[in-house]
Amino acid sequence: MNVHRWANAAQLARAFRRAQQASRRDDGTAVGLDPLMAWPMSLSIEPTTSCNLRCPECPSGLRSFTRPTGMLDPNRLRALLSGPDGIGRELIYLNLYFQGEPYLHTGMDELVSIGKENGLYVSTSTNAHHINPERAERIVQSGIDRLIISIDGADQAAYQAYRVGGKLEKVLAATRHILDAKRKSGRSRPHVVWQFLVVGTNEEQLPQMRRMASEWGVDEFVVKTAQLDDPHDGHPLLTRDPRLRRYDRDPSGRWQLRNPMHDRCWRMWQGAVVTWDGKVVPCCFDKDAQHAMGQAADGAEFRDIWRSAEYHRFRESVFSHRAGIEMCRNCTEGTEVWA
Ligand code: SF4
Repeated sequence: MNVHRWANAAQLARAFRRAQQASRRDDGTAVGLDPLMAWPMSLSIEPTTSCNLRCPECPSGLRSFTRPTGMLDPNRLRALLSGPDGIGRELIYLNLYFQGEPYLHTGMDELVSIGKENGLYVSTSTNAHHINPERAERIVQSGIDRLIISIDGADQAAYQAYRVGGKLEKVLAATRHILDAKRKSGRSRPHVVWQFLVVGTNEEQLPQMRRMASEWGVDEFVVKTAQLDDPHDGHPLLTRDPRLRRYDRDPSGRWQLRNPMHDRCWRMWQGAVVTWDGKVVPCCFDKDAQHAMGQAADGAEFRDIWRSAEYHRFRESVFSHRAGIEMCRNCTEGTEVWA
């Protein structure tokens, strides 16, 4: 990583500490933040909103977007990252994922290559239903650094209870193809992660999944608790084991995020999310782009949006009264999501 990127990241961190000091009151009074002069160190960009599955807590799966749906043009990614005003100079991390299944984008490997040409650590997350042996070789050759494969059950019944329309055998076959392609190529990347989204319908399978991950030889196995739009008594996705969920009943009996909600947010501070058509949103919880700060066709436009008055006001709102923003009330910032 070059010095310029480190310097920008350090400037971001210093500015965050100052903003935290300003927000310490946590009492809802307005916070006057200094304008954020550093650039983001991470960006998530959405390859596509399309998805082959119908997962119940996901707007792609539910086909419930009010925003336009489509595929990212590789030239938009190039224009955002490269060139004199390209934001790729400051970024460290590029996540080619937001909503949708990235490998439905036929140019996904080209998108990865654009990130790598800009010197970025590139990751994505996939349901792994479109990875045959040839695609697996292309994925490994693309240079992607981290490949997160969602695998939410040790048998078909548990898997499809959440991944509606999915086939566990396809996920297992894709894992095998990727691991084989990686071995054949002699490359150490991608770092292959099995991510187990733990919900009420699969929590009993956690020990079995841990054993499977070790037998299959993936690089990492992670257990993620689920974000639920409306946690309530009897919700089929709420786990019985409290350690495997984010929510508890409060004294009045309502289900609430377990951790206290402080008026600050590193996630939104250090990065942004760009939809396939260029809308810049503060974080990955803004799934339908309700808080779009603008639409960026290239790096120069992105920089204008990042330093805009509207973005500044949004940062001030989060640091003054985070609970006043609906999406910020059910988000993982400040919450432990890994079980
Ligand atoms: S939803 Fe969460 S991550 Fe997004 S801006 Fe609000 S507090 Fe930050």
